[in-house]
Amino acid sequence: MFRFLLFSVFTVSLVALPLHISKKTLANGETTLLLLAKEKGVAYEKVCYNKECFEVFLTPSKQEYYALIPFSYYDKAGNKELVLRYKEENQEKKEPFFIKLKYGNYKKESIHVSSKKVNPKSPEVKRRTAREYKEAIALYNRVTPTLYIDKPFILPLKSVITSDFGKARVYNGSLKGYHSGTDFRAAVGTPVCAANDGIVAYVGDRFYSGGTIIIDHGEGIYSCYFHLSKFLAQKGQKIQRGEILGLSGKSGRVTGPHLHFAMRVHGVQVNPLQFIKLTNKELLKERN
Ligand SMILES: [Zn+2]
Repeated sequence: MFRFLLFSVFTVSLVALPLHISKKTLANGETTLLLLAKEKGVAYEKVCYNKECFEVFLTPSKQEYYALIPFSYYDKAGNKELVLRYKEENQEKKEPFFIKLKYGNYKKESIHVSSKKVNPKSPEVKRRTAREYKEAIALYNRVTPTLYIDKPFILPLKSVITSDFGKARVYNGSLKGYHSGTDFRAAVGTPVCAANDGIVAYVGDRFYSGGTIIIDHGEGIYSCYFHLSKFLAQKGQKIQRGEILGLSGKSGRVTGPHLHFAMRVHGVQVNPLQFIKLTNKELLKERN
């Protein structure tokens, strides 16, 4: 009995598990990926950071396990301790590891738009934006326990980037957050493709993002397409990588026509191009 008690107290593993961390130094707004080999008697559970925990899933190849860890734009630079939680022979264990977070080299940009869109004053508009925000957060925090993707991501259209993720945005002289996606130059009516396979989770008009489509790629990964002029996909529909989901436009809070492309991982707004580069290289390999 005594021996059993002593044994069960030691929950931090003495023999470290082989953790493959794809990016140990990254910027605020970026994502890292943890790959975990199958180990006999080991059941991976979660990776926790601050008060958030991210689930561990099987990779598309089913050869190993993975966890995506998104860092918010507002996370402070520094050494971050993350903890892998797992069970070994039915005993709860944890293994800490570290990520170095630095501040991204993000620029600032000043934008002048119609003042009624910067500071929505009418109660009706306030109610609308509050409701849309709440709905959006609820959607992005939903983790569908199926991964719909097994091929690399593609960009939603072939064009020039006109504004990068992370630019601090100063609207009519006051700081109003940062650019939460990547903007592509697109004349009104340019076909926009699904960046990868998934289920269309949202189709609708929003005050800020205008004509909006959101695709659920499963396991906490979402891609978003804003300011569209026409929808060619329906909510609940299965969509394949490269399929045209709508036409670009200039709806919502914009200064001109373009496509705003964004990604959410476990509810966190992340740099979509960094996310695509990371997952294409480490998680999603082209199959013949
Ligand atoms: Zn944008």
